[in-house]
Amino acid sequence: MNAEKIMSKRNGHHVNETTLHVIGDDHVGTAYDTPMREDAHDLSDEEKMDKIAANFREIMNTLGLDLTDDSLNGTPRRVAKMFVKEIFKGLHPDNKPASTLFDNKYQYKQMLIEKSIPVQSTCEHHFLPIYGKAHIAYISSGKVIGLSKLNRIVDYYARRPQVQERLTIQIANELKKVLKTNDVAVYIDAKHMCVSARGIEHHGCSTVTSEYGGKFLNENTRAEFLAAIGS
Ligand SMILES: [Zn+2]
Repeated sequence: MNAEKIMSKRNGHHVNETTLHVIGDDHVGTAYDTPMREDAHDLSDEEKMDKIAANFREIMNTLGLDLTDDSLNGTPRRVAKMFVKEIFKGLHPDNKPASTLFDNKYQYKQMLIEKSIPVQSTCEHHFLPIYGKAHIAYISSGKVIGLSKLNRIVDYYARRPQVQERLTIQIANELKKVLKTNDVAVYIDAKHMCVSARGIEHHGCSTVTSEYGGKFLNENTRAEFLAAIGS
């Protein structure tokens, strides 16, 4: 089944279980924005952690684990804290990095590339890790940004349940917005544990996604970027 058919089915609310498996295993993304409910941030972090811990305890109980065991007793709370404060903290707009721009004093007009930014994300279809590297580049429109801010933008969008295509586009869109230019490139090469640990169980393969805007749509500019990142 192709992605278009799945999307039209989704929009028409005719999603049956087979379709959901196809969406999950084929990792079909359906929108640029992370799908979230309007009341997503009504609960405080503490309230969310309490609920998640109770629910995760129930999952462990259902699996037959003995939660009175010292080793397992703290796991529900540990998982809840990890979800809210670490691996999914990018769901909360309060955690979005503030991006201060500076004047491009050196009048540097060439491409700036930030290579090998660690990507630590989570597949939204299986809740298993996606991990790899992002390479991003931009050509200044007259303003520049602190280098670590580029890393922080990648990290913010990675720390959500994600599909890699959406992650790539979200990072590119944010860069365009904060840098006030369309001349941005984002390239992500990442491994998906849902491909290695389950399903087809293939190790060693990785997924490459990229998004180019403005001058990076020009073949020569893009070739310079790809050569610099060694791809
Ligand atoms: Zn997956």
